[in-house]
Amino acid sequence: MAEIVLERLTKVYPDGTKAVSDLDLEVGAGEFVVFVGPSGCGKTTALRMVAGLETITSGDVRIDGQVVNDLPPKNRDIAMVFQNYALYPHMTASRNMGFALKMQGVPKGEIDRRVRDAARILGLTDSLQKKPRTLSGGQRQRVAMGRAIVRNPQAFLMDEPLSNLDAKLRVEMRAEIARIQRDLGVTTVYVTHDQIEAMTMGDRVAVMRNGFLQQVDTPQLLYETPRNLFVAEFIGSPAMNLVVAELAREDGALWARFGEHRLRLAKATLERNPGLERFEGRSLALGIRPEDIEDASLVSDGASGRRLSVVCDIREDMGSEVYVHFNIAAPPVATKEVLEAQIVDAPEDAEAKIAAEQARGSGAPFVARLDRTTSAKEREKLELAVDVERLHFFDMATGLAVRAA
Ligand code: ATP
Repeated sequence: MAEIVLERLTKVYPDGTKAVSDLDLEVGAGEFVVFVGPSGCGKTTALRMVAGLETITSGDVRIDGQVVNDLPPKNRDIAMVFQNYALYPHMTASRNMGFALKMQGVPKGEIDRRVRDAARILGLTDSLQKKPRTLSGGQRQRVAMGRAIVRNPQAFLMDEPLSNLDAKLRVEMRAEIARIQRDLGVTTVYVTHDQIEAMTMGDRVAVMRNGFLQQVDTPQLLYETPRNLFVAEFIGSPAMNLVVAELAREDGALWARFGEHRLRLAKATLERNPGLERFEGRSLALGIRPEDIEDASLVSDGASGRRLSVVCDIREDMGSEVYVHFNIAAPPVATKEVLEAQIVDAPEDAEAKIAAEQARGSGAPFVARLDRTTSAKEREKLELAVDVERLHFFDMATGLAVRAA
């Protein structure tokens, strides 16, 4: 296994498109790092530069300390798994897996041994003699993984390898790939636009937007301490609720006021984010995760400084919990970065969405994930309690989380 280091990695395509800008990232030996971001954010281009399939405009890719910028793909000792894995239809699973080794002149006995080992890891032992058309989608994907595994590479590079599978199979295969990667301990860089895939698979997740790395952290840190509005809105499902709020001091405490609502900032929040003091009397973006809002009648601490009185618009019973949608009559945080995070498939539509939201002028849409015993009813009043220790705050001018003084 190898360490992969990207240093100020940049790609400008001949037509002038800047796909990747000054990307710095260290992938530790044996680590599983996932690139995630909306369509067109540059994640595939970054991966292809590591693989050697795309020329590098500036910056370096180093594998185990060696700059490989000019090394052809076959000399980088890495194996790629793509979305379109194109198995040879006339060859059995076994021959598909061993084909690259055969081309390299590896002796037959050695090929057989490696294919058998990979098949065992992948649960494909009984399917080795089958042709691709008689394999299920998941088995075909496993064969594609097998082709990479038999090469015993220093690193795996995977580009949306699960996107052709149906939803159920994707969930199964993502657990499977994560397990195989852990068992083999091979350094892996994985690309997806699916934030759930990224969060469940990666040791660390690198969030990209418009060619720029936004934040790279463990899934939990990304979720709990997003660096900016884009990451806050992109990571998490349902997404973080955002509203424009004003910080005001009353009775010695700081309150976030938005519309007719107000929440008292917890002492712990102020200690963690001393920079908030600077925003007294000013507007900022307040973020509340859906699970940090509960039906007030189910919470023992009903202090008034954490209440929201709303009208339930839509109640969705999920079985394990209930999603309640409601509207907060205060300005939504409709900045470009927030809307790009919301429309992952077509971030270029963000401008049009901003205009539509502004024309609507109907406040900020909120979602709460309530305990399944809630008696919330559609079109009725609902008292909610917010976990004010977990509020998030962002500077509207820069989009950055407000933390240090
Ligand atoms: P997706 O998930 O849609 O594949 P991505 O995040 O992987 O997106 P890239 O494929 O790396 O994004 O593309 C990044 C940017 O570079 C996009 O704006 C894309 O249109 C542009 N791009 C990609 N390939 C080329 C090319 N050969 N020539 C010019 N521009 C390109």
